[in-house]
Amino acid sequence: MRWPRDAPRLRFSVLMSSGVSLGVTRTRCAIVGALLIAGASSCRGPVLEPGGPVIDLHTHCMSDTCTVDGVEASLGGQLTVAALSLEHYAIASTLGDPLPDELRFVLDSNAVHASLAARSDQVLFFASLDCLHEVPASDPGWTARCLADADAWLEAGAKGFKDHAGKSWDGSGEDVALWVGAYNRLAGWCDVDAGDPTPNRACQAQATARMPLDEPAWRELVRGLVETRAVPLVTHAVDWREADTRCGRSGSVGPCFTQAADALVDFATWAERELSVEARRRIVVAHLGFLDKDEARLTAVLEAGLTVDLTQTALASSGCLLRDLVAAYPEQVVLGTDVEVGAACMPRHYEAWLWGLLGDADRRERYPDTCRGTMEPVGAGLLDELACDVEVRDDAARLVLYDNAARLLGWQP
Ligand SMILES: [Zn+2]
Repeated sequence: MRWPRDAPRLRFSVLMSSGVSLGVTRTRCAIVGALLIAGASSCRGPVLEPGGPVIDLHTHCMSDTCTVDGVEASLGGQLTVAALSLEHYAIASTLGDPLPDELRFVLDSNAVHASLAARSDQVLFFASLDCLHEVPASDPGWTARCLADADAWLEAGAKGFKDHAGKSWDGSGEDVALWVGAYNRLAGWCDVDAGDPTPNRACQAQATARMPLDEPAWRELVRGLVETRAVPLVTHAVDWREADTRCGRSGSVGPCFTQAADALVDFATWAERELSVEARRRIVVAHLGFLDKDEARLTAVLEAGLTVDLTQTALASSGCLLRDLVAAYPEQVVLGTDVEVGAACMPRHYEAWLWGLLGDADRRERYPDTCRGTMEPVGAGLLDELACDVEVRDDAARLVLYDNAARLLGWQP
């Protein structure tokens, strides 16, 4: 079902400049208790249906010591997380680049995530395809090999997949984390000096380099996953907009953010033409594509029918701004936090997120000790149909917290 065309649309520029500085402090009741379990009458916080579950479609395990305790302790046991493998980073190893110690976990990331999921039905395993680090994308058999990998992981219990189609910058500064560069190097689509200290950065900046989402073989892989196999794909399709890396794309060289974002929009246009409505929903653009300040491209992606997760975006604490997004595309927004599975901070982290989605519209609350330190989310008031002068569906909260993700996982008709 589409929201009517004259419904409230995104108003990023206006709301971004309006600013929010409420700094309200008040005695806050236990949000978890108020939202999900009982005791709602003891505080004035928002109330989700008792027992209402939450799905977080974007978490990871960055070591082999992850436990499921944090998941099971969060939200009164009503939390399910998709734990996304990062094994595609192992492409650096294939290329002979030394992996820094803090990235060595990626070598067994599929196995670690699969074993985590085996320990709790509240954890779902999303695999990384082996082909992404083992087979050059220039190999004519690449798509077939990738789909064979997909079938094997589905057989092994994977519920979906994860890729890094636009990962061409990394906050750690590690060259091995520039996945687009490594993908191009393995494919042989660039020419890098043997002694280059940052070969992936050098490779992706050459005009001959390609953006994965532009490639027909990549698109056929996506079709095979989200249409033929009807499973979700979480794609890190665009990089941080302030990134300093440069990327080649079909002969032009420019900032990686722009190149990847343009590739994403072209890919979305292809998807709208080639894939069913349900298949397009199963393409989850992680981190909102970092497009929260790019209304034109974000609108293009959403109008094409793709889903976005809210991971680490400014929108996560933007109150009425987030509300605008949910009002305009209620069935295409899912919760994603990027939290480390098992971390002791998980319960507090989810309390903060729930305030951001359900808390009083445009009221800021302070949450110390989340997995990102102190968070100060601003409520989007999704339980109130009329807050911010922007109407949302009366099931908006449920859609974002559970129903939209459940539908991608095939748990609902
Ligand atoms: Zn992530």
